[in-house]
Amino acid sequence: MLTANTQATDTGSLLSREKVVEFINPYLKNKGMYLDMAKAFGSPLYILETDVLARKAAQFRAAFSHRLPETAFFYAMKSNNLPHLSGHLLKHGFGLDVSSGVELSVALELGASSIIFSGPGKTIPELALAARHPDRVVILLDSIGEAKRLASVLKERQTRMPVGLRLNNNPEGLWRKFGVLPENLLSTFKEIQALGRLDFQGLQFHSSWNLNPDRQTAFIRKLGEILSVMPKPFLDAVQFIDIGGGYWPAQGEWLLSDVPQNYIIDQGSSIDLFAKELSTAIKEHILPLTQCRICFEPGRWICNDAMHILIQVVDCKEKDLVITDAGGNTVGWERYETDYCPVINLTRPGLSEKKCHILGSLCTPHDVWGYTYFGSAIKEDDILMIPAQGAYTYSLRQQFIKPIPRVAVKESASRHFLLSECGE
Ligand SMILES: *Cc1c(COP(=O)(O)O)cnc(C)c1O
Repeated sequence: MLTANTQATDTGSLLSREKVVEFINPYLKNKGMYLDMAKAFGSPLYILETDVLARKAAQFRAAFSHRLPETAFFYAMKSNNLPHLSGHLLKHGFGLDVSSGVELSVALELGASSIIFSGPGKTIPELALAARHPDRVVILLDSIGEAKRLASVLKERQTRMPVGLRLNNNPEGLWRKFGVLPENLLSTFKEIQALGRLDFQGLQFHSSWNLNPDRQTAFIRKLGEILSVMPKPFLDAVQFIDIGGGYWPAQGEWLLSDVPQNYIIDQGSSIDLFAKELSTAIKEHILPLTQCRICFEPGRWICNDAMHILIQVVDCKEKDLVITDAGGNTVGWERYETDYCPVINLTRPGLSEKKCHILGSLCTPHDVWGYTYFGSAIKEDDILMIPAQGAYTYSLRQQFIKPIPRVAVKESASRHFLLSECGE
């Protein structure tokens, strides 16, 4: 999942400086507020901007709900598992998409009334937890074996449960682990019906890392062909089709290259383009066969821009070598050895990008924030910002050598607070 980006560079073009400046300008404009937060809560710090989160949620929902008769939206909790973030999305009418018993417990505690539980290899205790809440949880079954395990859990509890079935949309390579093959759909449906206790309601598929809607529309077309030969009792049972997540933010994917300060961009698509093309495909291939609800499971697209990381320079060892107070454990993987995200010096702002190794303080060389910074200079105690790092960083944070930073929430220009409880 996290290294798929290394395959994408052959399609990329050069990232323009204008695009980078356009990206960092809003953060520079608000630098006073971020500096205030660093002063109030210390460094390093994760910052959650709830108004950004609300805007993203509203924008995503509007793009699709205006184009389709019936829609439902579920935030994929794994992309950023801060409970406070999921809690906010519930307030904006999202349900939650969980992939483990731990995530399910958080979703239940947050009071979510609409939860989908997806993922391979769900254990008996995980299935049993879901089975205690058939009014709030739909299990998206990953195999017939899992259907049987769930049926025996339900038998013990003398209860029933709504379920869907995940279809595999990529049988090549390691993605083959997910779901059941489309050619086995009818037999799996019949087995599910025969098991009793499982109220079959729909289908799900998911593909990751979509810079444009092509792969998703291709599978929607294929799904239309599959559905067109399914018997009426199956089509009558289908209440939803869940087309998953995997929407890449419109800014595209930014990667380092072998040439310093030459960055590669794999162009992204606007969410309106995704919505237009996916909705057209759904209306052409799916809705004529079954008038069902279309469900979405966005993760990255929703949370990415809503969280930032603030760090502080501890040691200026050379003109072009600084050590900061936060290490790669803050993001949990060696992200900035391949990905490019501008490092902004909030203390000494400037629009020129200067070469400098911005490194963390872990006892490993694989501890990089960036190879440049934007600013007029860089000195000890300067506060640096790595903006828009909400997706697949916070969830992967780890207690390794250094402690995990705290989370501060910015609710509006004037109101911010430390999330001391963090719900964890
Ligand atoms: C990870 C995942 C998502 C979210 O993917 P994003 O790329 O973050 O949008 C949605 N659905 C399922 C089943 C997933 O595994």
